[in-house]
Amino acid sequence: MSTPHTQVVNWAGNVTFGSPRVHRPRTVDELRRTVRDSARIRALGSGHSFNLVADSDHDLVRLDGLPAEAGIDAEDSTVTVAAGMRYAELVTVLNERGFALANLASLPHISVAGSCATGTHGSGDGRRCLSAAVRAVELVGPDGDLTWLSREADPGAFPGAVVALGALGVVTRLSLEIEPAFEMAQRVRVGVPLDEVADHVDDVFGAAYSVSLFTDWRDEGAVWLKHRTDRPVGGWSGGRPAPGPVHPVPGMSTGSSTEQMGSAGPWHERLPHFRPELEPSAGEELQSEFYVPRELAGAAFTALRGIGHLLAPALHVAEVRTVRADDLWLSPAHGRDCVTFHFTWLKDPEAVTPVLSAVEERLLPLGARPHWGKLTTMAAPDIADRYERAADFERLMLGLDPAGKFRNAFVDGLFPRA
Ligand SMILES: Cc1cc2nc3c(=O)[nH]c(=O)nc-3n(C[C@H](O)[C@H](O)[C@H](O)COP(=O)(O)OP(=O)(O)OC[C@H]3O[C@@H](n4cnc5c(N)ncnc54)[C@H](O)[C@@H]3O)c2cc1C
Repeated sequence: MSTPHTQVVNWAGNVTFGSPRVHRPRTVDELRRTVRDSARIRALGSGHSFNLVADSDHDLVRLDGLPAEAGIDAEDSTVTVAAGMRYAELVTVLNERGFALANLASLPHISVAGSCATGTHGSGDGRRCLSAAVRAVELVGPDGDLTWLSREADPGAFPGAVVALGALGVVTRLSLEIEPAFEMAQRVRVGVPLDEVADHVDDVFGAAYSVSLFTDWRDEGAVWLKHRTDRPVGGWSGGRPAPGPVHPVPGMSTGSSTEQMGSAGPWHERLPHFRPELEPSAGEELQSEFYVPRELAGAAFTALRGIGHLLAPALHVAEVRTVRADDLWLSPAHGRDCVTFHFTWLKDPEAVTPVLSAVEERLLPLGARPHWGKLTTMAAPDIADRYERAADFERLMLGLDPAGKFRNAFVDGLFPRA
């Protein structure tokens, strides 16, 4: 099924896709024919990216019309999911069957394939980005053919095929690592001095299974501690306990925030910050994020504290998280543990752009890599230069899609055609 001449915008409403046609196939065979018959096509997930990574000047295809299947293989500890499923749907199925994913992003509203394509992450010293849980992917290639690439059977190509920006084909299914379901309790400490966090990064971010700092970069912040109830609680306890539930953006209604105040409950109702049934975050917003090598966290804190007076007026809120290293070629955490600096900006590009540039002036010399789905002023080739395996990815892309059916201007910018 295709919808002609529809204007499609992303979740934030800051991007209108250039495609004149959006397809929504009901079966994988219909998807394969659509891909085969299209000159250029890109998959669109749930549209939560803030830039043109998903854009197409020709066809777009959404996979949310395909059956939302999730097949659990308990012996292999994997679940094989339909690519267009959102984490919100998947986590419910998993939890009902007694299983869990190791990590989730701040919101469960995003599609599995779209999140894995950009290296989307949550937080935790021991937690890798969501893409690192992928054991295998199934792709529709340019001729409508289906290819299954797995970590075990295709070690030479697989690390390039997960965080792939939609440039290798349309992902139809992914196998993800699962583990037994666990319980969590979430506590928030407010009034935490930023200097204390900067001086004790390891203590603060090591204090729970998943830790986030929210701040406006002036003096203080709120630290969200997500504990597993089956693991010991960390020793750090700066600031003071929040007197009631909070929202990441100060002053916003707390109804959309996940359960806090230390009450124990299922993993998927504590790991994200936002509940699936309600609008996440601030809504009227733009986002940027940078992955900085973990050992430079202190230097990054000092640099951003120095421009706190510029940042605060342009922000709803900023968030600092940690991400463990992985081996995926285009993962922003490739080869190094990271601390990530996220910015939820006001939806005012004119005010935000100079402040974003000021952030980049300070974080890029530290080796920062920008989030693939968020805003940056960096030139595309400079971004590609930050990835040691970029040339390997380009070779893989040329091998799987020699005529460039799945490329768009975003991908061409990163890997200009010879
Ligand atoms: C309110 C909000 C909160 C957020 N929180 C976080 C967070 O906590 N952590 C974080 O890291 N990011 C976060 N993000 C960013 C978001 O998670 C990423 O941009 C993610 O990629 C969005 O997934 P999506 O399904 O919307 O993908 P889209 O934005 O629709 O697409 C992203 C990419 O995936 C590709 N793609 C989608 N489906 C397929 C497919 N089937 N086959 C091949 N390629 C495909 C597209 O072509 C495109 O290149 C947040 C965004 C919002 C709006």
